[in-house]
Amino acid sequence: MAGSQDAKKEVVVFDAEAARDLVKELTGNFASGKTRSYEWRVAQLKNMLKLCDENEKEIVEALRLDLSKPELESTIYEIALLKNSCKLALKELKHWIKPEKVRTSLTTFPSSAEIVSEPLGVVLIISAWNYPFLLSLDPVIGAIAAGNAVVLKPSEVSPASSSLLLKLATKYLDSSSIRVIEGAVAETTALLEQKWDKILYTGNGRVGRFVMAAAAKHLTPVHLELGGKCPVIVDEGINLQVTTRRIIAGKWGCNNGQACISPDYMITTKDYATKLVESFKKELERFYGKNPLESKDLSRIVNFNHFSRLTKLLDEDKVSGKIVHGGERDEVNLKIAPTLLLDVPQNSLIMKEEIFGPLLPIVMVDKIEESFDLINSGTKPLAAYLFTNNKKLKQQFVISVSAGGVVVNDTAVHLAVPTLPFGGVGESGTGAYHGKFSFDTFSHKKAVLYRGFAGDAPVRYPPYSSGKIRL
Ligand code: NAD
Repeated sequence: MAGSQDAKKEVVVFDAEAARDLVKELTGNFASGKTRSYEWRVAQLKNMLKLCDENEKEIVEALRLDLSKPELESTIYEIALLKNSCKLALKELKHWIKPEKVRTSLTTFPSSAEIVSEPLGVVLIISAWNYPFLLSLDPVIGAIAAGNAVVLKPSEVSPASSSLLLKLATKYLDSSSIRVIEGAVAETTALLEQKWDKILYTGNGRVGRFVMAAAAKHLTPVHLELGGKCPVIVDEGINLQVTTRRIIAGKWGCNNGQACISPDYMITTKDYATKLVESFKKELERFYGKNPLESKDLSRIVNFNHFSRLTKLLDEDKVSGKIVHGGERDEVNLKIAPTLLLDVPQNSLIMKEEIFGPLLPIVMVDKIEESFDLINSGTKPLAAYLFTNNKKLKQQFVISVSAGGVVVNDTAVHLAVPTLPFGGVGESGTGAYHGKFSFDTFSHKKAVLYRGFAGDAPVRYPPYSSGKIRL
């Protein structure tokens, strides 16, 4: 009997009451002013750097368990990017927190003004499974730099990473103001019912809508990092081998296509398609061998649900005959080979849904300029790519394609440029982060105007005579 009572005690339930208590506790700690101090922010950022430095092996192992993520991808795209974010924040923080002096107008003469960045308060970060460390800790770095208290909810879909995040955050970061709560829908719902000062959510648009609806009840500002179908246009007359390799790196080299900025489909001309396919066949075999299902350099599909979602896209009647390369699958080990499809119909599932996996359909157009209308006929993507040598086409692309970010002659690498904002537009998200933008997304830009007692213009005071109106 005593034993069963002990077992009952061990079940930790994170429900709405627990969530309410958590927010109350963190709100009190935030109100004490602790997280606002420059010293606290620097200490936490240094600890975050230490967390990454001292636990590389454990992080790589968790990513291997969750996704069979190749070590090099884990080291570069998760750990190194996080370290760079910490180092940049530590280097620039003094500059970022400095009030920005701005000019005033004649109306308030004499006066001076500045914009003061103040922390928002207690913020909630909900992250996704595909880059579980980067997508969790990169926003946390921004929230800490801006002086907030933070609750992080990692994804239950990558459980090894989620529990390691809890363990490491508890060990390295100040738990009075930075907390990790593990859980799935029930726990996230309990968190979302609370009043936050900002919510940053990374994931799909369906859940993004729940997040926005929950936030609306409290008028909480929301930053949504969503996805969509990222197109890559390939013009003729380019360096085909470099183009092919850079598309492969952004697609299969990023978590086997399970990345929000991975190319989702390619567009090229009817005249160029065969040449393009041949080049991909050659380079894919060079990188992943004759049996890519056995390659150690490709992540697996995260779980069976996503595996069957992807095979369903591949097995649709109007699509299955269009495979020109790959198509092999291994249900036991959740592996799908890099797969190219040519000339898939626009009304197929694979062209309607975000693929988020190793399948890459190719759409053909008569003239490359038609690509822009084709892209703009869908929802706005998170990223769009163009490979060309044509200067006019580059300009047209930048002007006419609306996307979170665009890259000319490469894929996915804009993510690693901290001077560029990273985020979506329309259905691919709202808000942007990375570098200083992370600090800004978790700060309120407070307008501050200073006046003395001189220059007290009588015109603003009654009686409002007609002489004053004409002034
Ligand atoms: P996911 O399944 O890990 O879900 C994301 C988060 O939402 C998790 O923490 C999960 O617990 C929570 N969640 C799931 N269902 C919920 C519900 N009903 N109520 C409340 N919370 C819920 O990740 P996912 O959605 O499969 O991620 C893939 C999507 O995310 C793709 O669309 C991809 O493009 C996008 N994405 C965007 C970025 C970006 O930076 N913009 C990065 C990665 C992924």
